[in-house]
Amino acid sequence: MDDCIFCRIVRGELPASKIHEDEHTLSFLNIMAAHPGHALVIVKPHVANIYDLDETLSAAVFQATTRVARAVKAATGCDGITLFQANEVAGGQTVFHFHIHVLPRFNDDKLLPFWPASSPSRAALDAMAERLRAVI
Ligand code: AMP
Ligand code: ZN
Repeated sequence: MDDCIFCRIVRGELPASKIHEDEHTLSFLNIMAAHPGHALVIVKPHVANIYDLDETLSAAVFQATTRVARAVKAATGCDGITLFQANEVAGGQTVFHFHIHVLPRFNDDKLLPFWPASSPSRAALDAMAERLRAVI
C-alpha cells in the first residue's frame, strides 16, 4: 500500500520512535498518546485487520506485544496496561493496517469507558456459542 501511514513507517519513509523490531513486527510510540509510553505494535506486511492475519503474523504480533507490554510496565511504572485493537470503522479503527495498542494505565485515570452490559440467559449464551462453533 503506497500511501498507508504504517507501511511508510516500515519502509522508513516516515519517522517513528521505535521500540522493537523483528522479522514480522515493528513497535513504536503513538504520536497521539493517551499516556507517555502509549505504544503500537504493527505487523510489517500490509494486513488491514485481524481477519486477514495468518498464523505466523498473529503469533509474532502477540509475542512482540508481550515484550513491549513488559517494557512499558518497567519503563513507565504504570499501574496497569490495557491492550486495544480495533477492526473496521465500526470497531473504532482509524489506520487500516493491523496494530495493537499497548496503553499504560494509572489508577483512576478513567481513560476508557466501559460498555453497558446485559446478562444474557444461559440459553442465549449457548445458542450464540453454537453459532460461533459452526463457523470457527
Ligand atoms: P486506531 O484508531 O486503533 O486505528 O489507531 C491508530 C493510531 O495510530 C492512532 O492512535 C494514531 O494516533 C496513531 N498514529 C497515526 N499516525 C501515526 C504515526 N505517524 N506515528 C505513530 N502513530 C500514529
Ligand atoms: Zn500498510
